[in-house]
Amino acid sequence: MKRIYFDHNATTPVQAEVFEAMLPFLRDEWGNPSSIHWAGRAPRKAVEEARDKVCRFLNCSAAELIFTSSGSESDNLAIKGTAFAKKSKGNHIITTKVEHPAVLNTCKYLEREGFEVTYLGVDADGMLSLDELRAAIRPQTILITIMYVNNETGVIFPVDEIGKIAEVHAVTFHTDAVQAAGKLPLDVKLLRCDLLSISGHKLYAPKGVGALYVKKGARLIPLIHGGHHERNRRGGTENVSGIAGLGRACEIAARDMDKETERLGRLKHRLERGLMDRIPHVKLNGHSEKRIANTANLSFEFVEGESLLLNLDMIGIAASSGSACTSGSLEPSHVLVSMGLTPEISHGSVRFSLGRANTEEEVDYLIEKMPPIVERMRGMSPLWNEAEKKGALIDFEKKSC
Ligand SMILES: *Cc1c(COP(=O)(O)O)cnc(C)c1O
Repeated sequence: MKRIYFDHNATTPVQAEVFEAMLPFLRDEWGNPSSIHWAGRAPRKAVEEARDKVCRFLNCSAAELIFTSSGSESDNLAIKGTAFAKKSKGNHIITTKVEHPAVLNTCKYLEREGFEVTYLGVDADGMLSLDELRAAIRPQTILITIMYVNNETGVIFPVDEIGKIAEVHAVTFHTDAVQAAGKLPLDVKLLRCDLLSISGHKLYAPKGVGALYVKKGARLIPLIHGGHHERNRRGGTENVSGIAGLGRACEIAARDMDKETERLGRLKHRLERGLMDRIPHVKLNGHSEKRIANTANLSFEFVEGESLLLNLDMIGIAASSGSACTSGSLEPSHVLVSMGLTPEISHGSVRFSLGRANTEEEVDYLIEKMPPIVERMRGMSPLWNEAEKKGALIDFEKKSC
């Protein structure tokens, strides 16, 4: 059976060049990078060389980067670390309703610890209002945490504008850039952020490694207390092979980004047009321009998203409904609901996220195989049959894509 992977926002395969960069530290160079003897030298060198590579990718200095175990840990460290460090200055945090659970649930935890959190909404395109952000800032506001790219819809937030607003009000600004890494330029100076999270496995590096940029002078209370690792900001012997992989992945991402973005943009356009032209009553979710090149989120009226995914899986196509973290639950996507979709339409939504290995042939296979599946599923839906009889089917506005 064919195996087609359209779920790159959930995770990406480890690239061959990344694997090569990791291998020495899984086999021969097993020393502890903190050791001063011969066994520690090569691992230490690898960690610091990888740090330089990630720093070049983000345009920051080596002292401004902390390696972590994941994007989730980077988000937790940025948010809790700042909140606890700035507690005497205020207790108010601003975020959005459409963040990744690593941010949302960290904020919920802080609410139980006495912090106040404002969750900004989004419009029907999934876009944020900067005026609402400005209006939400209070004298007690200590942190703004807003993602760069949404993992479900691919919508891009104007992070540089948010950074300017945070700067004017002297509020610390963190951005979860996990889905932006490798897809958009990530210059922390241009983005004007104090903290920025990335994750290895969304960037063709392995799972279990991430990084957090911390602007010089920004104070953080560590989450993991231990030895003097990462300049006392994160205890724990370094994940040397993972870090070496992340360094290499950043180099490759920077090298290939322009070319890959263009290619994926064309593929995504083909996919969206192909499905929307062949399947009636489909809604394209997310802003028509402010959206990254690899993500297509579509709602199929009167179709149950999870069943659709199982049907696609049976013909070898891997896609996702909303985020991987919320699948398996019957809750509709918090992102799509925040955009004003009804729970029913949200349930009929599928995310296709493209990546390096995807080809036109794969997209064409999807475009050929999916319309009959949707038709069959709708044929079995009493609601669809009834609505069709009554002529009550809504025609979604045909958005350009
Ligand atoms: C995947 C993801 C994370 C979490 O990263 P992990 O390394 O899986 O913990 C955080 N934020 C966004 C936007 C993501 O897509």
